[in-house]
Amino acid sequence: MKRILLTTTSYQDTPGKHHDLLEAEGYEIERRRGPLNEEQMLDLAGDFDAFLCGDDAITAEVIEKSLPRLRLISKYGIGLDKIDMDCATRNKIPVTFCPGVNHTTVAEHTFALLLAICRNLCDEVNHTRKGEWTRLTGNEIMGKTLAVIGFGRIGKEVALRAKAFQMEVKAYDPYWDTDFADAHQIRRCASLQEVLQDADVLSLHLNLSENTHKLINSASLKFIKDGAILLNCSRGELVDTLSVVDALKSGKLGGYGSDVLDQEPPPSDHPLLSAPGALITPHIGSRTFESVVRQATMATQNLINVLNGEPALAQANEV
Ligand code: NAD
Repeated sequence: MKRILLTTTSYQDTPGKHHDLLEAEGYEIERRRGPLNEEQMLDLAGDFDAFLCGDDAITAEVIEKSLPRLRLISKYGIGLDKIDMDCATRNKIPVTFCPGVNHTTVAEHTFALLLAICRNLCDEVNHTRKGEWTRLTGNEIMGKTLAVIGFGRIGKEVALRAKAFQMEVKAYDPYWDTDFADAHQIRRCASLQEVLQDADVLSLHLNLSENTHKLINSASLKFIKDGAILLNCSRGELVDTLSVVDALKSGKLGGYGSDVLDQEPPPSDHPLLSAPGALITPHIGSRTFESVVRQATMATQNLINVLNGEPALAQANEV
C-alpha cells in the first residue's frame, strides 16, 4: 500500500472535497502538524511514497534518506524555498506545486495589512476593547504610490487592488508582462533602486532565492522614502530583520505589515513581534476557506496523477 506523509495543517483543518479525493485512493496516510523542521523530517523519512507538504524542511539529507521509496513531493502552495530542488531533480523526484489558486487571497491579505496600518486599526480596536475612546488620525491611500517588487501572480493582483483604490502603481520584475502592465497603467521600473525610490508603500511579492535573500537591508533601505510602509506577504528571509527593526525604531519606515518571519513559528522574543509599527500575522495570507480548498484539491490531484503515472497539473522541475 502506498504511504503518504501529510503535514500541512490548513489542509487537514479545513473541510472540503480534497479529503474525499485523497481518501478515495486508499493510501495509508500519516498525518503530522507541520511545518516540520529538518530533524522531525529526518525522523520520518524513508517510509513514504510521497510527501504532501507545506513549508517543511525538505533538505538534501531528508530527500536522500527518503530514497529509494520516495516518488513525489507534492507541495501544497507556491513557495519552493524549503525544498532542495537541485537534490530532488538530481534524484529524479518530481516536485509538484499549486500556481494560480492562492494569488487573490494573498493579495486581499496584503491589503488587509496595508489598510490596518494606515488606519491604526489594531491599536484602535485594542483601545475600544478596553473601553477607551482614543481617536488616532490615520492616512488615506488614494493618490499614494505603491511599489510592487516581484510582478508575478500575487504582485499583479495587488496592483489591481491598488488601482481600484486609486493609487499610482509602479513595479519591478526581470520578467515583464507588458500586456498586463499596459492594460492597467502600471509603470515599469528598470532597477530595484528605481522601484524602491519615492514610493509611499512597498510590497514584496518576489520568491525567495539566493539572489533575493535579505534584499531589504540597511543598504537598500537607504533608497526608500522616509516614513514609507513596507509590506511582506512573501517570505521573512527577504528582509534583514534587524535592519527593519532599526528602520521602524528610527521612523525611517512608517510601518511593516508582514505575514511572514525569518523564523516560523518565531521565538517569543523575536524582535519584529514587539517593534513599533510592526503588524505581523502568522503566515495566514493564503489561509481562507476558499483558497485552502482550491490549493488542497490541486495538491491532492497532483499527487494522485503522478503516483498513477500521469502528468501533474503543475510540476516545478523537469525529471
Ligand atoms: P510568481 O512566481 O508568480 O511571482 C514571483 C515573481 O518574482 C516572478 O515574476 C519573478 O520573476 C519575480 N522575481 C524573482 N526575483 C526577483 C527580483 N530579484 N526582483 C524582482 N522580481 C523578482 O509567484 P507568486 O504566486 O506571485 O508568489 C510569490 C511569493 O509569495 C511565493 O514565492 C511565496 O514565497 C509567497 N507566498 C506567500 C503566501 C502566504 O501565505 N503569505 C502564499 C503564497 C505565496
